[in-house]
Amino acid sequence: YSGKSQFNLFSEEVKRIKVETMMSLPIVVTEETSVYDAIVTLFLEDVGTIFVASKGYLSGVISRKDFLKSAIGGTDMNKVPVGMVMTRRPNILTIGLKDSVLDAAIKILDHEVDSLPVVEREIVEGKEQLKIIGRISKSNVTKLFVELCKA
Ligand code: ADP
Repeated sequence: YSGKSQFNLFSEEVKRIKVETMMSLPIVVTEETSVYDAIVTLFLEDVGTIFVASKGYLSGVISRKDFLKSAIGGTDMNKVPVGMVMTRRPNILTIGLKDSVLDAAIKILDHEVDSLPVVEREIVEGKEQLKIIGRISKSNVTKLFVELCKA
């Protein structure tokens, strides 16, 4: 039982764990929601990132830094909708239910974001739309790490 082979067993095990088993509930607002109301949601739901939907499908992501940026820019928080401040598709990184947590963690690290929307693809009127199913963040990955090490 060399250290390496035990580590390989551990890593094989980790690669089998799917996003759907570790994800959290997504916190979603519509594009018309004011920046003010979105900030209130951020506090009430205790999250760092909120997903934005338009007609029921993912259209963007808004995080703490986006809110700070708009505050510095002198945005009228009660008037400006999140649709004007968020990061918008197609520049959104997502992950699927059946993808591995490892792939999610790699995306999070490579692109220096805190979380990914867990999505399901749907074709609506010939266009690919993303249904928001969940959220996977650095916290979920950290929790998994602790669970695996305690097991
Ligand atoms: P924070 O602002 O709390 O540090 P992030 O580091 O996740 O959170 O966000 C940094 C920037 O990346 C923000 O502009 C945010 O809109 C964007 N962002 C966050 N998550 C994603 C994602 N999954 N895909 C694309 N952009 C994202």
